[in-house]
Amino acid sequence: MALTFHRIHTTPAGGRRGRIELPHRAVQTPVFMPVGTAGSVKAVPQDILESLGAELILGNTYHLYLRPGHDAIRRMGGLHRFISWPRAMLTDSGGFQVFSLSQLRKVTDEGVRFRSHLDGSSHFFTPEHSMDVQISLGADIAMAFDECTEYPAERSRAEESLRLTMAWARRSLDHFRAHQHEVPWIHNVAPASRPAVAGASSPAPGGGITQSLFGIVQGGMYLDLRRQSAERLVEMDFDGYAIGGLSVGEPRDLTLEMIAEVLPLLPADKPRYVMGVGYPDEIEQYARMGVDMMDCVLPTRAARHGLLFTSQGRMTIKNRQYAEDQQPPDPNCNCMVCRRYTRAYLRHLMQAGEPLSATLNTIHNLAYYLGIMERVRASLAIHQAGGDRFVPEGRRENSPG
Ligand SMILES: [Zn+2]
Repeated sequence: MALTFHRIHTTPAGGRRGRIELPHRAVQTPVFMPVGTAGSVKAVPQDILESLGAELILGNTYHLYLRPGHDAIRRMGGLHRFISWPRAMLTDSGGFQVFSLSQLRKVTDEGVRFRSHLDGSSHFFTPEHSMDVQISLGADIAMAFDECTEYPAERSRAEESLRLTMAWARRSLDHFRAHQHEVPWIHNVAPASRPAVAGASSPAPGGGITQSLFGIVQGGMYLDLRRQSAERLVEMDFDGYAIGGLSVGEPRDLTLEMIAEVLPLLPADKPRYVMGVGYPDEIEQYARMGVDMMDCVLPTRAARHGLLFTSQGRMTIKNRQYAEDQQPPDPNCNCMVCRRYTRAYLRHLMQAGEPLSATLNTIHNLAYYLGIMERVRASLAIHQAGGDRFVPEGRRENSPG
């Protein structure tokens, strides 16, 4: 059984207070997912992520495939066990990094050949290979292999990219369905189908829930291509749906227009994930429109550059004005950093190049982002008493299976 999504309450504006039952965790939605690129949310230990209330974190398939390698992670029982993270995880397909980080990539209908940004070694990724890697990593949610259409893109380029992404979505789904029982931690399948690696299975996650696969809506900034993409993915019947190819340099009202166009086309009983967004006001806005999941490197990456998101706006902590400022970074924040440290100290750590700077800045920014989602969830659930437990009604009529 794949994930189940319970809608606890839906507001007139479409915002959904819900819960996603995943193998390793029931995740409260809308949820913000910190990005743990190479098996680590940079500078923050796992126990602190837990205390911040992170329920679902993201791992990057491209990075983990190159180092330490998905076969090694499988032998160690999967990504959860390898990084000692008992809660939920999601892996991306590797596509976005192949297209943004690697060199000399060559795209054919079959897949993408690219050179590693680490050592120049040559690799070939296909939808099937991306599924094999993601099944070995064993995150609760895997993503279909797609091509992220760049911005700006001519219509003919966006059409060709979409054609490829839709063909790869079909191949991703078929291969995933045929092999999803090979996930390293699965415990509720017939012994004959268990992975052959003795003693390497993780502690059994709950509920007999299996790994799930999401399809990714592409189509550049063309509304009709976005619609076409959403409709075709829904026909394929994925476990959830993402909107990709946004926040790639386009103006924000265009991002909003694409999300508003696609959301009503996606099944109400499946989670909806907008990839790679955004600023604090954006994640709140999209959550209120009915987006259930979001991820972004912004709070963690900005933190390492000394940019703090606060209730009073953005703060560049290395500015001279904070040199002897005895206030907490954000007087309205109750995180472990704001309870204990001053702006002056955070500025000093940054000026001195102390590693603790990245850690403390990141902890605050993540607390701020996760706090936004907590408040949005509370406000979406005001009429919770009238909510209902959603039970899927079986496969859609137009499902091929
Ligand atoms: Zn704080």
